[in-house]
Amino acid sequence: MKVFKFGGASVNSAEAIRNVARIVQRHKNESLVVVVSAMGKMTNYFELLNSYYIEKSDQLSSQLKSIRKFHEEVLDQLIESEDNRAHKILDHIFVDLQLFLDTNSSESYDLIYDRIVGYGEMLSTTIIYSFLEQEGLNVKWIDAKDLIKTDEHHREANVLWDETKEKIKEQLRMDDSGHPIYITQGFISATMEGVATTLGREGSDYTASIFANILDAEEVIIWKDVPGIMSADPKIFPDAIKIEEISFYDAIEMTYYGAKILHPKTLKPLYDKEIPLKVRSFLDPEKEGTIVRRMKKDPGLPPIRIIKTDQVLISVISKDFSFITEQNLSLIYATFAEADVKLNMLQNAAISFTVSIDNDPGKVDALVETLKNNFRVLINDDLELITIRHYDDATVDQMIKGREVILEQK
Ligand code: ASP
Ligand code: MG
Repeated sequence: MKVFKFGGASVNSAEAIRNVARIVQRHKNESLVVVVSAMGKMTNYFELLNSYYIEKSDQLSSQLKSIRKFHEEVLDQLIESEDNRAHKILDHIFVDLQLFLDTNSSESYDLIYDRIVGYGEMLSTTIIYSFLEQEGLNVKWIDAKDLIKTDEHHREANVLWDETKEKIKEQLRMDDSGHPIYITQGFISATMEGVATTLGREGSDYTASIFANILDAEEVIIWKDVPGIMSADPKIFPDAIKIEEISFYDAIEMTYYGAKILHPKTLKPLYDKEIPLKVRSFLDPEKEGTIVRRMKKDPGLPPIRIIKTDQVLISVISKDFSFITEQNLSLIYATFAEADVKLNMLQNAAISFTVSIDNDPGKVDALVETLKNNFRVLINDDLELITIRHYDDATVDQMIKGREVILEQK
């Protein structure tokens, strides 16, 4: 069996969904789990809806209306009859959402966020499922919240692997004759008690790799609007070239440093089971794309450029001119860990420790306050973290040109 993942861009209109159906049709003689994201930028719209709900804004109902109109129009373009089941299911989802929005929840921001934002995936999968069924495919719709089980770390939940494995094995019968095509949602999950959680923005890739790991998939195909994994973001660097094959090791480093091609958590579950991952273009589904797999030898990659924006560089300096010793370092690391802040790039000197982190204002402010109890703290914000893997002088020169370099490591 194979796992396919279709992201927002691949399902952002009725036409796009017809294209997804054509791709699935070509694979109807194999068992598939098809993981789907919310349509287009819908998750952003749901994030807004969530803010309006929490702020009790009067824009709530118009926001909901426009989300509803968008999905209904797409469904109308795809599904022929009016009194169709699909319309009823869609209605049902909106009634359910409306009921929640009518309540006055006193739960935490993050819990409400997960409760609301996941509707984007419920809607997209309902529409796609209905269309594939109309096209005569042997599809089954599955609620990922029943299968992907997590802890209560809302907005970036940690998967409970044993429980998830049990649920998936229980509910998905991949050995059925007739090659079932399971349609399910990326990104969304739930606790064992059924409280909605999410795996983090762009987490649908990770969902695909969880299914692949547990079902021992032959491969995962992530269908995207680019020809494959590129040596840089082609929207920023038109000279980016497609990489034919890349090791898990290189791919995981790329995503860690901010390459947006894959969610960073995607690779480990595949690496563990040696399941290859392909990134292919849904615009050009005949083409092979890029394969990520276990490799003994580096295939000789070009310089890979990655830019992570909105970085804050924090320098932690001892107050009394004492060295940043092992003891100070462990205190500093513990403070970062407690604040749930990831260290992107770091460097230490005799009496200072410097680190680049993502600018998440809520987290950074709290972190800096705590650090100030023991250290002097300097902050530089609005920076970019530029990573060049397999660098050469020409690429370094290209990236440095016109920029002021504050910290550099080779
Ligand atoms: N729809 C979610 C998001 O936009 C998950 C995903 O696309 O992977 O973040
Ligand atoms: Mg997306």
